Amino acid sequence: MKQKYTDSLFSFIEASPTPFHAVENMRRSLQENGYVQLLESGEWELKAGGKYYVIRNGSALIAFRIPAGTFRGFQIMASHSDAPCFKIKENPEIKTDDYYVKLDVEKYGGMLLAPWFDRPLSVAGRLVVKDKGMLKTHLVQMDRNLVLIPNLAIHMNREANEGYKYNVQKDMLPLYGTELSKGSLKKQMAEAAGVCEEDILGSDLYLYNRMPGSVWGAQEEFISIGKLDDLECVYASLQAFLMAEDGESIPVHCVYDNEEVGSGTKQGAASTFLKDVLTRICESFGGNASMYRRLLASSFMLSADNAHAVHPNYPEKACPTERPYLNRGIVLKYSGNQKYTTDAVAAAMFRQICESVDVPCQVFTNRSDIAGGSTLGNISGTQVALNCADIGLPQLAMHSPYETAGGQDLEYLIRAAQKFYECSVEETGCGEYCLKGCS
Ligand code: ZN
Repeated sequence: MKQKYTDSLFSFIEASPTPFHAVENMRRSLQENGYVQLLESGEWELKAGGKYYVIRNGSALIAFRIPAGTFRGFQIMASHSDAPCFKIKENPEIKTDDYYVKLDVEKYGGMLLAPWFDRPLSVAGRLVVKDKGMLKTHLVQMDRNLVLIPNLAIHMNREANEGYKYNVQKDMLPLYGTELSKGSLKKQMAEAAGVCEEDILGSDLYLYNRMPGSVWGAQEEFISIGKLDDLECVYASLQAFLMAEDGESIPVHCVYDNEEVGSGTKQGAASTFLKDVLTRICESFGGNASMYRRLLASSFMLSADNAHAVHPNYPEKACPTERPYLNRGIVLKYSGNQKYTTDAVAAAMFRQICESVDVPCQVFTNRSDIAGGSTLGNISGTQVALNCADIGLPQLAMHSPYETAGGQDLEYLIRAAQKFYECSVEETGCGEYCLKGCS
């Protein structure tokens, strides 16, 4: 059975081929709901009851709402806008065999390469153009099947099914057209964005998968679409944030960029973006450094990034004791070396929130002989240190351009995240906490 939020999630992801588009779609939702954009270069005069958002680089966004009464801390849910894909180079067109024109690309993030073959792809991103003495950013999305990476026929590589090591420079360049189209990509981008080709001074363009979302399985219990990691958490966080009632803390919807390449940019989790915004909120209400630290001590963060479910064909790849499955609830992620921030305190807080709204939780830990990945929480914690739980929704085929998850789990996350945004944490003693608004 198709679940409540599936269509809306698919619409959001299909309209978000790049982080720039994801942020623009969130910006629109926030505007429609009465949120006011703040510029980092401007003065902020925040008011009790006010609703605000800040965008950095067009690809990371932080939204927050000031309660009408006093506030005790921040309830922050962080996710990321980017996904592994191919970045198109500055002068990408390559004529080959005096006939074909293909595009030169490089990897963005660590992805499964094989599923990118033999499926319609297109190009999206942003252009920066000169405009009457100014520089302006335009989003661009070629909303049609434009390029494809064709496989080599089995007849020409009989060992293809014995395991093949892909070379991105050799194997992964998408076919764009024939000699008739040489030199036309930039022009097409300019036309799609409604600007003059010669005014384009900068661009960030990426390939994206055109395949729409699907609901499938014996009971239609599974969903598949690209970028579930991590736009599913981004979408859930935003919906929950918008629906949540005011509590005694400031709810913060935080979406970083560049998680897939190590978070080390000005808009990534390692940057000062979150710290800058929280500090300025504090200052805007007359707070000093001491107040900021007290607020953080009564705050709680969720680092929301999807998790690996047990794979039906590779059950041995999962930890023998922690076995997350699709449609069995939100996953709390643990790591002995603290790549995930979840500890006893953060887990207890999150479980109490989930219990209060009847949402099931599962646990993910890597097999003890597999290193696993990292995510936002511990990186963001070097800038803003506070109690944090790493969570995510269980999924299969992470970092394929077409990923799979459980239809029911999204609703679980939205329900739990809404409660998370409504409650607040009070530190009542050493190792003692009270979750207000959540019993
Ligand atoms: Zn992720």
